[in-house]
Amino acid sequence: MDAYAAIIERQGGEFVLDNVSIEDPRDGEVLVKVAAAGMCHTDLTVRDQYYPTPLPAVLGHEGSGVVEKVGRGVTTVKPGDKVVLSFSYCGTCPSCLKGHQAYCPSLFPLNFMGRRLDGSTPITRKGEEVNACFFGQSSFATYSIASENNCVKVADDAPIELLGPLGCGIQTGAGTILNALCPEPGSSIAIFGVGSVGLSAVMAAKASGCLKIIAVDRNPGRLELARELGATDVIDANTVNAQEAIVAMTGGGADYAMDTTAIPAVLRSAVDSTHNMGETAVVGGAKLGTEFALDMNNMLFGRKLRGVVEGSSTPQVFIPQLIAMQKAGLFPFEKLCTYYDFDQINQAVEDTEKTGTAIKAILKM
Ligand SMILES: [Zn+2]
Ligand SMILES: [Zn+2]
Repeated sequence: MDAYAAIIERQGGEFVLDNVSIEDPRDGEVLVKVAAAGMCHTDLTVRDQYYPTPLPAVLGHEGSGVVEKVGRGVTTVKPGDKVVLSFSYCGTCPSCLKGHQAYCPSLFPLNFMGRRLDGSTPITRKGEEVNACFFGQSSFATYSIASENNCVKVADDAPIELLGPLGCGIQTGAGTILNALCPEPGSSIAIFGVGSVGLSAVMAAKASGCLKIIAVDRNPGRLELARELGATDVIDANTVNAQEAIVAMTGGGADYAMDTTAIPAVLRSAVDSTHNMGETAVVGGAKLGTEFALDMNNMLFGRKLRGVVEGSSTPQVFIPQLIAMQKAGLFPFEKLCTYYDFDQINQAVEDTEKTGTAIKAILKM
């Protein structure tokens, strides 16, 4: 059938909107009429080819919409169901079976290689194949072929256009706190980088009962929003040494830290900002092959560092939980979101990257 999609044709290029043709769902797949899709930092790093996703490609991995058609064998969603599209996983390996879908060994091929595992793709443009299985969805399009595994059914009265970002950026920030670090009530946490992931972490830290929530960034507007969403202290890294300030304001170091920036020097100062036995989460995606250094003797004092993908979430469990928290006023992630028409996708990129005026852009199809 006919669809309309935003295509990245070359490294670093603009999104090109064009008519395409999309296949019917195969076994285990779902055709979704996309209502909206959030823009995540990873769409832009893939545009820049930090990861080897083949081009031309339809990106977009925070889709939401309504199921139009299902392929054979699909049992958990049916036409008419509202769904949020999250990351793709195999569902059958030991990691997936233990509920650790974000650590599925097939995560990279399923989410970044732009194709089904058999090498096929569901979208063509003027008869030529376009890579369109990005995160098992390629939702910068009016229709998306997803797999049953990355569809999360939500309630019929859910505000579907708002919910796509729960599929990646927002669950990454919230899940790092609620599923991975699990800070005790009364503990302290420093969050380095308060874009959409860091701000989601700030809200989750507040909901967890953290008493000291320190936001670090170079953008004063974001720091102000962090304060509104629950940060008790903010540090403008343009003018203040964040590590020294955190150690001073926590009486020796934070219990927890989180780096969303993917900058090696910032990750290092996140770890060095923690107290003995403190734990740091690394969340941002750096270029493949990026390395960083730590002080070994500092680590000896019980410090921990862990990587977290997609907030260690099982999307079908965690996304409904975040929706319930939002409904209850405990997780007001709508405050991060700015809507754009699909045709304004390049404006959304500019507002996200250049001016920083959009924290979480959502494109309405
Ligand atoms: Zn798996
Ligand atoms: Zn993402």
